Amino acid sequence: MTLSVLSVASEAFPLIKTGGLADVVGALPEALAPHDIAVTTLIPGFPKVMRAIGEDAPRVHHFPHIIGTEAWLREAMIGTHRLLVIDAPQLWEREGLPYVDTDGNDWHDNWRRFAVLARAGADLASGAVPGYDFDLLHAHDWQAALAPAFLHYAPGPGKVAKSIVTIHNIAFQGSFAAHHFPDLGLPPEAWSVEGVEYYGQIGYLKAGLRTADAITTVSPTYAEEIHRARYGMGLEGLIAARAECVSGIVNGIDPAIWSPKADAALPAPFTVDTLDDRIANKRAVEQAFGLDEDDSPIFTVISRLTWQKGMDVLVEVIDDLVALGGRLVVLGTGDPALEIAFATAALRHPGRVAVRIGYDEPVSHLLQGGCDAILIPSRFEPCGLTQLYGLAYACVPVVARTGGLADTIIDANEAALAMGVATGLQFDTVTTDNIVAVLRRTMRLYADQDQWRTIQVNGMNADYSWHHSGRHYAELYRSVLGNP
Ligand code: ADP
Repeated sequence: MTLSVLSVASEAFPLIKTGGLADVVGALPEALAPHDIAVTTLIPGFPKVMRAIGEDAPRVHHFPHIIGTEAWLREAMIGTHRLLVIDAPQLWEREGLPYVDTDGNDWHDNWRRFAVLARAGADLASGAVPGYDFDLLHAHDWQAALAPAFLHYAPGPGKVAKSIVTIHNIAFQGSFAAHHFPDLGLPPEAWSVEGVEYYGQIGYLKAGLRTADAITTVSPTYAEEIHRARYGMGLEGLIAARAECVSGIVNGIDPAIWSPKADAALPAPFTVDTLDDRIANKRAVEQAFGLDEDDSPIFTVISRLTWQKGMDVLVEVIDDLVALGGRLVVLGTGDPALEIAFATAALRHPGRVAVRIGYDEPVSHLLQGGCDAILIPSRFEPCGLTQLYGLAYACVPVVARTGGLADTIIDANEAALAMGVATGLQFDTVTTDNIVAVLRRTMRLYADQDQWRTIQVNGMNADYSWHHSGRHYAELYRSVLGNP
């Protein structure tokens, strides 16, 4: 039996992306199609999204009054995938990023914007929108997480879909002032610890975790970690209380977008059998970033420049990295103070360190395909995608042992090297000493080019396509629905 799933999210690649969430939401429909699961994606009508679907995308439903505002639903096909878009310019059509204004402050009405997204999802998944019928609603992160709460407390008039919440990052929870509660249209009993109330506020993610039929996160290790205070960010008690419904499924990568043998961003596409060709990409990186041309390893960072990503610690060891003989290219945006600190480090080390502050997909492909190692010193990392791209592109991941990084990289310790199975390097606790130690270890491995090549080949042969993850999601969907 074909299952019909509504995936509700604030981002979906290639339409709108600020992070890994978009990659996952964009890839799910294709990953699930072989399992007889038809995914429709509901997203906000941000300007980029409206431009992508075009003015001709038909209006299929009118919400005259949804969370105190008016909205239309438009339907479009992106390739073979059905997309539903909430057309409400007063909510989405703004200068700035999806969640923050041009000064980096949260939009003052985020509570309403993402309550509208969730309410529209719940309406679609409970018979309130004629012509639409779903077996399951899959809500991603806090922006969509009120949807299961609406289904639970205030469903539409029809069949009520089952629901799943996926936590892509528990650090972002969507907490809003209690005085907005009456505007959500939830019954009074929803205002309780069992419902949406969270330390005196409305907790969007909390509400979803409380009311969804199942909870997933994006790696088995992170699913364990969030039971503990250090990672649970206040929600560890709730996670523990619902432990039997919590599981972790590692993200996959989309081979249509991330494949080194057919990547338009690479001057020299390559396969595992033509790894020698990769050197042309390294030369292109040197040229593009004004680095010295030599045989020393180039480390790269492609990341949000934030505390979570350990960037405050990494920036402290740049002088050590250079002293050890390495070079570094950083591509990222984030905390202004860190952006300045990285840019200053580049000024100190011309030819050895280059920093580009900005977001650039093609350049991120070139760096994965031309640099030797990707550094990911995250303090926590629910799944992480850049290490998976690194594996596929023979850019050896050097990662902190946490979350999805722990689950996807096999550390080049003595045993793994002896067995020929290592795919990268891991280190514990993010400190300057530990990063310098792992850099030293990386330099040693790189100096033995045969061993380095084995690590690269192992990484390229590791299969992190959506093939496996799609199957896990399909199994979960069917078990939530009682295995139809
Ligand atoms: P997170 O979602 O926490 O930021 P992930 O590793 O899960 O981290 O996903 C980050 C995604 O964003 C990856 O696809 C990565 O390549 C991309 N990315 C991050 N920063 C940049 C950048 N400055 N330019 C291009 N792509 C970037």
